[in-house]
Amino acid sequence: MRPFAYARANDAAEAVKAGGTFLAGGTTLLDLMKLDVMRPERVVDINDLSREFSAIAYGPQGLRLGALAHMAEAAQHPDIVREFPVIAQSLSLAASAQLRNMATLGGNVLQRTRCTYFRDTSWSRCNKREPGSGCAALEGVNRKHAVLGTSPNCIATYAGDFGQSLIALDAAVELAGPSGARRMAFADLHVAPGDDPSVETVLRPGELITGFIVPALPFARRSLYLKIRDRQSYEFALASAAVALDLDAGTVRQARIALGGVATRPWRAREAEAALRGKALDESSARAAAEAAFAGAVTHGGNDYKPELGKRTLVRALLQAKALEV
Ligand SMILES: Cc1cc2nc3c(=O)[nH]c(=O)nc-3n(C[C@H](O)[C@H](O)[C@H](O)COP(=O)(O)OP(=O)(O)OC[C@H]3O[C@@H](n4cnc5c(N)ncnc54)[C@H](O)[C@@H]3O)c2cc1C
Ligand code: SF4
Repeated sequence: MRPFAYARANDAAEAVKAGGTFLAGGTTLLDLMKLDVMRPERVVDINDLSREFSAIAYGPQGLRLGALAHMAEAAQHPDIVREFPVIAQSLSLAASAQLRNMATLGGNVLQRTRCTYFRDTSWSRCNKREPGSGCAALEGVNRKHAVLGTSPNCIATYAGDFGQSLIALDAAVELAGPSGARRMAFADLHVAPGDDPSVETVLRPGELITGFIVPALPFARRSLYLKIRDRQSYEFALASAAVALDLDAGTVRQARIALGGVATRPWRAREAEAALRGKALDESSARAAAEAAFAGAVTHGGNDYKPELGKRTLVRALLQAKALEV
């Protein structure tokens, strides 16, 4: 047992001022503290901020999601199910019912990788846990590891699902920090591992996520999240695709595509989107888009199968989205 200080914040200003590691649902943080992977000296419980930051509101401008809203609540929200099915599905296909009841949206996007070498401290080489120590996964067991956005220092997969729907829908994230509030594109929140895989986001010390803004998108009703995994439920993605399609009699005006389970951060597949624009959507144009999405894939033995799985996942997601009756 490592001792740590515990404080409970009443509002955002108090949470930010307390300066520590935020505790929301605890479904990532407590696991990693028990595993001795995360060792905060000060834990700041932000659950009382749910009074201010748990509302879900839908209107002509789009959707606002409070960071303290629970995954289950957002997954079942009638406006989200109807207007942004990709969001509802990315949440309902994640984790288990108990976890979704406990876990928050803000905590979800900041969950850590499931790389075994990261989560098991008996392995000494993990640049994400111990910067400069090396990466045991490069030549180790890497079946579930990423093929896009990797670096020679880390190939860990970003494990979340919700982040893919946010990035596909051009969502923004709202923050409160010691120097005030700010807002940024969700796409800019996470960083690729690069030289220092221990840095996963651009959050500044003490900065709190307060909410997410999803702009209105008329064609978001034609959206879905397809998740391929080792078992039907309660499992992380081996490959996933969040897609939204704007179709004109079967021809793609615009496509929004994000990939999960295959990349080191929530991954927007802009090359695939460009490949589809103006094309009649069928198996062959979907496959060409998928080839474009994985053109830069790098594999490491155990995950050699992933580019092909990822391509097939995207093709199936696109064809299923086309077939939706909206
Ligand atoms: C067995 C299991 C299976 C799972 N399966 C899936 C899955 O299939 N798909 C999926 O997407 N997820 C899955 N998860 C992950 C789960 O969804 C996350 O653990 C959860 O969403 C985290 O939310 P939380 O509120 O519990 O976060 P916490 O554990 O409280 O916090 C997580 C991290 O975020 C920080 N944090 C939390 N809230 C904020 C905030 N508002 N601002 C700034 N920092 C904050 C914390 O300091 C901490 O570092 C699974 C988890 C488990 C344990
Ligand atoms: S892939 Fe990343 S998280 Fe996994 S061992 Fe290598 S450095 Fe650590």
